[in-house]
Amino acid sequence: MKKLSFMLLVLLFVFIMPENGHAASGNNKIFLDGKELTAGQSVPVENVNGTIMVPLRMIVENLGYKVEWNQSAKTVTIKQEGKVIKLSVGQKTASVDGNTVILTEAPVLKTDTSLVPIRFISEQFGLLVEWDNKEKTVTITSPAASSDSGSSTGSNSSGEGTSTVTSPPDSADNLTMVNGVSFSGNQLIIAMDGSSEPKISVLNNPDRIVVDIPNATFSDAFGSGQSLDPNLQGKLDATEYPDVKEIRYSLFSSNPYTVRFVIQLNYSKDFGYSTSVDSTSKLAIVDLNAIGGLAAAGSTGTTNDTTVPPGSNGKKLIVLDAGHGAKDSGAIGVTGKYEKNFNLAVVLKAQALLKKEANIDVVLTRSDDTFLELKDRVAIANNLNADLFVSVHANSSSTSVASGTETYFKRDESKAFAKVMHKYLVQATGLSDRGVQYGNFHVIRETKMPAVLLEVGYLSNKKDEALLFTNDLQDRVAASIVSGIKEYLGIS
Ligand SMILES: [Zn+2]
Repeated sequence: MKKLSFMLLVLLFVFIMPENGHAASGNNKIFLDGKELTAGQSVPVENVNGTIMVPLRMIVENLGYKVEWNQSAKTVTIKQEGKVIKLSVGQKTASVDGNTVILTEAPVLKTDTSLVPIRFISEQFGLLVEWDNKEKTVTITSPAASSDSGSSTGSNSSGEGTSTVTSPPDSADNLTMVNGVSFSGNQLIIAMDGSSEPKISVLNNPDRIVVDIPNATFSDAFGSGQSLDPNLQGKLDATEYPDVKEIRYSLFSSNPYTVRFVIQLNYSKDFGYSTSVDSTSKLAIVDLNAIGGLAAAGSTGTTNDTTVPPGSNGKKLIVLDAGHGAKDSGAIGVTGKYEKNFNLAVVLKAQALLKKEANIDVVLTRSDDTFLELKDRVAIANNLNADLFVSVHANSSSTSVASGTETYFKRDESKAFAKVMHKYLVQATGLSDRGVQYGNFHVIRETKMPAVLLEVGYLSNKKDEALLFTNDLQDRVAASIVSGIKEYLGIS
């Protein structure tokens, strides 16, 4: 019992300590263009789930913006030169000139000051914001200061609505937003909104491919899907790919704004590059498989494959997910066949068919026998803002008589998609129709677009298993996936 009470004491201590840590956070310093805003003041700066939160009013007023605080509604309104930004304490969405923006963390109230994510400040006001975790110092650089004469920015903190201070760059309105990135199947795929054309360079010593996206920054959606440190840098995991040593990304420059991705290779390598163009969004794909079909533009990759004429409805992005993989075999058939291999075969066939569709882009969560966590499959689809998600599986039951085809959905918005997909799938298998069903599966629950999980047949049933591992059946199922997707999207 003595030991137990000691443990309780330790636990208590652990829980109380963070509060003390916060209370002692008064020695944080905030610099704007070299001038300390925090001189002689105690300022809260907090780390909330890895997001550095800084006091909004102090920074924004020093930039010459007007800040209004509504005590009862707990809302902050920032105004300058027609631009209006509204934030609410505890809410992850903000409004910028009527458009909704997602914050990585909701604003919090601390010592009568609202704290907001450091990146919100940098993105909305066109600033370079850096956080030195060791010194507990926030350094803010306005674009004017970083370009030349760094002296004339910043008003006195008492200045009320002074208009001579720095305002965000005009170009902030039409910055391209980089929404997500993934590396799967030996392809780097970058999702973005905006008109910027990526520039690709190939460099040696070490061998690397550099993708620069001019006039671009990371959107909040990017930060919610991938790790992005306060310096706006991060890395992708590509440890399973022998060609690749490391993939990193950063806001390479804030003047002019440039987002950079670097694929550091283990040896020099040919690759293909393409950009799919859409009226509002696009994918840039650097394909280290250097295969055809992607309309690879050669190793210099300076031209783009524009298969959809601008002004058309644009391409839809489909993420196909072959269930399981590698050490996770999924169900095992009565004769010992693995579900993971069936799933992959169908997905590869469906991918080949979808690649022929002019209005569809397709991305696979896995294109070979590799293992992915469920959350990684979801992240690929969410990071890329995919339009549809289809996960392919085969079922198993303790009773060998169980047989037939099922289609699962989890969220209401997926139900109509599930019905269409099931109609074609049942036709394709010819097995008994076990219906469209509600199922609480991770990949169709956590994805943010209409998502279905197909259980094509039962590997525990001898007849189903034999059928599922025929080329004909796999071709038909792949074709049915394409038919369902096209009907749901209204593509003829
Ligand atoms: Zn499965």
